Amino acid sequence: MYDVMSPKAEEFISHEEILETLKYAFENKSNEKLITEIIEKAKQKKGLTHREASVLLECDIEEKNKEIFALAEQIKKDIYGNRIVMFAPLYLSNYCVNGCVYCPYHHQNKHIPRKKLTQEEIKKEVIALQDMGHKRLALESGEDPVNNPIEYILECIDTIYSIKHKNGAIRRVNVNIAATTVENYKKLKDAGIGTYILFQETYNKETYEELHPTGPKHNYAYHTEAMDRAMDGGIDDVGLGVLFGLNLYRYDFAGILMHAEHLEAYKGVGPHTISVPRLRRADDIDPDKFDNGIDDETFEKIVACLRIAVPYTGMIISTRESVACREKALRAGISQVSGGSKTSVGGYAEPEPEDAKSEQFDVSDTRTLDEVVNWLIKLGYIPSFCTACYREGRTGDRFMSLAKTGQIGNCCQPNALMTLMEYLEDYASEDTKKAGIELIKKEINNIPSDKVKQIVIDNLEKIAKGSRDFRL
Ligand code: SAM
Repeated sequence: MYDVMSPKAEEFISHEEILETLKYAFENKSNEKLITEIIEKAKQKKGLTHREASVLLECDIEEKNKEIFALAEQIKKDIYGNRIVMFAPLYLSNYCVNGCVYCPYHHQNKHIPRKKLTQEEIKKEVIALQDMGHKRLALESGEDPVNNPIEYILECIDTIYSIKHKNGAIRRVNVNIAATTVENYKKLKDAGIGTYILFQETYNKETYEELHPTGPKHNYAYHTEAMDRAMDGGIDDVGLGVLFGLNLYRYDFAGILMHAEHLEAYKGVGPHTISVPRLRRADDIDPDKFDNGIDDETFEKIVACLRIAVPYTGMIISTRESVACREKALRAGISQVSGGSKTSVGGYAEPEPEDAKSEQFDVSDTRTLDEVVNWLIKLGYIPSFCTACYREGRTGDRFMSLAKTGQIGNCCQPNALMTLMEYLEDYASEDTKKAGIELIKKEINNIPSDKVKQIVIDNLEKIAKGSRDFRL
């Protein structure tokens, strides 16, 4: 039975409710009156239910689809302005005891080189990431209680935060590791992590169990209830995601929104972010062998409908996607992008040798961080290296209530400009610096308060003279 307030995975993600939702969406895909009503409701920027959003996703009226995309773009502008948060993944270890059939780190893969970074290697990787200009990382690791126990992850986090190289610093470490216990989530919280990210892969229990035939990840309930445990452990900011391509996208679209509704209802705060990864080619993985691949157009529609359904949840796109696809997705609602990413264990400090490649999957966008920043600036976006909210304790419901009252905009624009200025001073190419400074001059005028504007002007001057780490 469907119950948004239930602690049980199979009740807050009800298979029957999803099937009924899909039926309702299909029956109403050309219902112009209903679709218009849902679009009108969405304009209030208070979000939509999984049923309403599923109708928009299914909508086949061309005019209405144009309205959906326009609304997603408008909501994104209203809430996030033109700021785009930057990050990079850092793979710690690819030792893994699971049997995930879509991931080359699966236990049965005997030929992929298994690697685990030592603390010395982490220092080198982090210095390389700092020298690119990154301030925010997403840590990635396989699941292996012997090779990658929680103590190892905690030690890595400590090492990462401790490295201060030139003007560089990693100021926010997000963590994407397997579902774990409340006790371990408390330890991650105490280590000062930002967001705890865990992709559901698919919300369909039967498919989930087939895709994860062996290992602890096989347990659907334990995996699906992980975010509740993370919140019980004190982690306010959690990041959801499904791996599109594994299962019917409509099913997982409804599922992820039901998960968001559950967190909001049961824990009082919805997901901080939603990621939209798509299955990629990898070592012994051929994405064409999976039947549920989605084309770019469908992908873009998913992004737009999610943006409308959960306006205050950040949305993340990785370098799995092509430049052209990322550009469209940015318009449709994405607020965070990675740049200059490596999906191998090691590889930032020195390229991996050809005969010992440990990549998790092929990236599509292979540009450097500077090229990505330059591209964003020229598209009119402000690449932001801001990590202020989390460092000022604006997480969870405190972040959400600020965001919902529009207050967050008063700090985000200044913080984005000041952190971009740091990037331009320390790491940018000539061309990026020139374009970035012009953008900053223009964007300063969009700070509503004269007092804040003056503070930012003063701080930008100080940054140009060598001071760092200003935030509001
Ligand atoms: N091991 C952790 C877990 O089980 O949740 C998380 C880390 S894993 C390195 C990060 C994510 O990569 C997975 O959750 C999955 O969605 C994604 N992934 C795995 N194989 C992939 C592939 N072939 N293409 C694209 N993404 C993939």
